[in-house]
Amino acid sequence: MTTQREGLAPTPYRAPVEEALLALEVAGLDELLDLPVYAHVDRDAIRSVLEEFARLAENEIVSGDRVGDVLHTTFDAATGEVHAPEEYRRAYERYVEGGWGALPIPRELGGGGFPTLIATVLQEFFASANLALSLNIVLTLGAIEALLQWGSDEQRALYLTKLSTGEWSGTMNLTEPQAGSDLGEIRTTATAREDGTWRVSGTKIFITWGEHTLSENIIHLVLARTPDAPAGTKGLSLFLVPKFLVEANGDTAEHNHVRAVSIEHKLGLNGSPTCVMHFDEATGFLVGPLHGGMKAMFTMMNNARLAIGLEGPAVAERAYQHADLYAATREQGRTAQTKAPALSVIREHPDVQRMLLTMSTTTQAARLLIYRAVAHKDLAHALSEGPLKDHHQEMVDLLTPIAKAWSTDRGADAASTAIQIFGGMGYMEETGVAQRLRDVRITTIYEGSNGIQGIDLAFRKIPRDGGAHARELFDEIRRTLAKVDLASLELAAHHVLSALEVLETTTTWMVNAVRDRPDDALAGATHYQRLFGDVVGGWLMIERALRATELGRANAPIAIDEATFFAIEVVSPSVGLGAVITSGVARLGALRHGASEHAR
Ligand SMILES: Cc1cc2nc3c(=O)[nH]c(=O)nc-3n(C[C@H](O)[C@H](O)[C@H](O)COP(=O)(O)OP(=O)(O)OC[C@H]3O[C@@H](n4cnc5c(N)ncnc54)[C@H](O)[C@@H]3O)c2cc1C
Repeated sequence: MTTQREGLAPTPYRAPVEEALLALEVAGLDELLDLPVYAHVDRDAIRSVLEEFARLAENEIVSGDRVGDVLHTTFDAATGEVHAPEEYRRAYERYVEGGWGALPIPRELGGGGFPTLIATVLQEFFASANLALSLNIVLTLGAIEALLQWGSDEQRALYLTKLSTGEWSGTMNLTEPQAGSDLGEIRTTATAREDGTWRVSGTKIFITWGEHTLSENIIHLVLARTPDAPAGTKGLSLFLVPKFLVEANGDTAEHNHVRAVSIEHKLGLNGSPTCVMHFDEATGFLVGPLHGGMKAMFTMMNNARLAIGLEGPAVAERAYQHADLYAATREQGRTAQTKAPALSVIREHPDVQRMLLTMSTTTQAARLLIYRAVAHKDLAHALSEGPLKDHHQEMVDLLTPIAKAWSTDRGADAASTAIQIFGGMGYMEETGVAQRLRDVRITTIYEGSNGIQGIDLAFRKIPRDGGAHARELFDEIRRTLAKVDLASLELAAHHVLSALEVLETTTTWMVNAVRDRPDDALAGATHYQRLFGDVVGGWLMIERALRATELGRANAPIAIDEATFFAIEVVSPSVGLGAVITSGVARLGALRHGASEHAR
């Protein structure tokens, strides 16, 4: 075992605690801490939580990252068991012992009662340190949310505590060979038994952590179709199918009729088993209303979409730290100021500085976007009925597809840029930087591909109330830009305002196109999502600089420079996207006016 692990030390990682604390301030920590439900939480407590978890991430969680990438998880065909590397078990045990999973669980259910926003920071550190293992935690948190919202009292009593501690883990079983983006094609069936339970049969593919032995039990949440149900997504219901059935007193009993039949060989995320799951008349329990499966699963999926969005900045942060270290030591060429025979480190070359700053600022912007969306979610959850609660819910609904797609697209770009900074060594597996790109690549695909997120934004989120919610957000951005009173931020504000004006016009175009010319809207949806994300990112970077200045942070001048760089480098080119988006489906004529050479 030791020899296999030689040379598999993880690449460096330091959890960015100070940066996360600043991002929390920008996200809306003040508003959250004012709520009575969080009266027991203060900034000191948050800092200690973050610092303690940072140590866990930097020492334990990261330790298996490279090992998992090289040695993979393994499948034992004889027993159907999936085994993760030993380092994963140790890290998982530390996570369970520390009670970290219970931090955001309501206090009345035995949890820490912290805002999800704080758990989101821990999740980011976890994902930076070991993305493959972090997925196990993400899916468990999703299952907890689904049960909190849709589970019966009995189901909550039976499953929530152990899911919260991590003694049991959760999965999400949607995908089937013929049902990927289009879940209406799901064929897994559930038939009622007389005792009120259900018989679940079918095959699910690509199920993350569908089988493993890190936790004592696995609680599968499965979308299935009942007999005589309507076709499409309207006929789907959600079922809880435990790996080991659970007695009324909470003890685990016999193995249910569900098992992994194989695991996939993938481009990356090698430490995360992606399983083909076979349900053979497994005992299931209905969660939420019959035929209400999509609505219930959306609770889990929306939670997961923000969590997957977070994987973008999480991986980008790790890639940036590695590339920055390399750039500070690799000597090549000379800057204009360097005299021969001395060489310059590549970090001194403007083009490398451009790449490094693009990585670091898009990471910051993506982090701010996700934290902001999660803060809206916390506020929507905690406030009592009324317009303010509705406002926060509308904002989280609007921001979720952007947070998922924009952040993961930027994360994948950053991982690719890290390889560019390493040069040829980046292409060599021995540096470990290629793992970042291989791991992050899936984040733009799973949990609703980024194309589907663009469509969700354009067709569902924007047209609500004729675009009124988007306009509310645009007004908020304008208010920030109007209050920029630092001369040093004026250039940033100018570029963000120009892009915002394009976004506003494009939004009006989009609302009309969705109604009158859906193909035109579909052809522009991905670019629209990109433009939206660029503007929101630019705005939040300005908010960050303003907040850092207000708090007297030592890094305030750097935050101003970063906001300006981001506005010039990322936001200003997006002004051109307006013309692309509104060009509609006509520009795809080359494919639409006849089959391509290959298809003929
Ligand atoms: C590593 C990994 C882990 C996963 N984990 C899970 C899991 O835990 N649970 C689970 O249930 N699933 C899981 N999945 C499945 C994942 O969610 C799907 O792969 C994803 O939803 C895309 O579905 P698909 O692969 O069938 O692609 P398809 O649906 O075939 O899509 C292919 C391409 O076509 C585009 N496309 C499809 N339909 C449309 C449309 N109507 N309009 C425009 N473009 C469209 C997509 O954007 C995409 O680019 C996982 C997948 C992987 C690879």
